[in-house]
Amino acid sequence: MRFPVVHRLAAALLLSACASTTFASTTHVPQQQVPGVYHQQIGQLQVTALFDGTVALGRQELIGIDAGAVTRLLDHRYVPEDGKGLQTAVNAYLVQRGTHLALVDTGTAQCFGPGLGQVLSNLQAAGYAPSEVDDVLLTHAHPDHLCGLLDAQGKPAFPKATVWLSKADADYWLDPASEATAPQPLRFAFALARNAVAPYAAAGSLRRFTSSDTLPAGVTALDSHGHTPGHVSYRLDAGASQQLLVWGDIVHFHAVQFARPDASYEADSNRNAAIASRRTMMSEAAAKGWWVAGAHLPFPGLGHVRSEGDAFAWVPGEFAPLPVK
Ligand SMILES: [Zn+2]
Repeated sequence: MRFPVVHRLAAALLLSACASTTFASTTHVPQQQVPGVYHQQIGQLQVTALFDGTVALGRQELIGIDAGAVTRLLDHRYVPEDGKGLQTAVNAYLVQRGTHLALVDTGTAQCFGPGLGQVLSNLQAAGYAPSEVDDVLLTHAHPDHLCGLLDAQGKPAFPKATVWLSKADADYWLDPASEATAPQPLRFAFALARNAVAPYAAAGSLRRFTSSDTLPAGVTALDSHGHTPGHVSYRLDAGASQQLLVWGDIVHFHAVQFARPDASYEADSNRNAAIASRRTMMSEAAAKGWWVAGAHLPFPGLGHVRSEGDAFAWVPGEFAPLPVK
């Protein structure tokens, strides 16, 4: 078939457009992932999940569950696993309420090596300045949650912020006497904790809170100890009958511990208490329909919990556009 001249011109343009599209798609090889940032509007709260990186946790670090049951639960879940263990995300959460910025946990910064420590750069990629953060709420004093208090130069990353850490965790992790009696694999964490909070403590902006203290507006600390002596989960009132539970380290192995909340993690300081806290937090979140944000759930780690008999299941949130302001 012959095209009239004008149609031949159009056909040539169309073909060259197709050729350039093909050319572009075959030569564009992504060098890195898009920034690890995800926004979720929850009532009055603008929540931004911030990806820090991933760590590997070995399946043998699950305690109180036999290896066959672990294998059955991991089958068909496709959690990436290599010789070091199961891929486990490290997440932090920025919560904006009006002009107030609260950051829950801060990631690993320089403490865990290459590939991690991305919370600060992702916060900036999301359009926030670290100097704007008003409050840093720590769920506990492990290095993957508080090392990010310091920037790459070892200076406070959030110079204006008040840092909130439960008194029970501060008493334990900041005390050299408890380091001497801690299990050997956990001893490295004590110096990292003392180092991370030091400049804030020196400036008078470290708050070691108890249940009688008032936290920033709209924030309630729920005792969820067990993973550490003073582990807390933060419930944030989003208005309009909505709540967000930023639960910290209630779950480390999502493919196992929702179905088997009685399976604990080797690093839990008190395994029975950790199991009880996991059950309480999951039950409350499921019964009340709270949004949940999990430090070690697959990024962005935002979603809901569903009851399944005596166990639970994770329901990831769905990608959604932000409301038009
Ligand atoms: Zn953790």
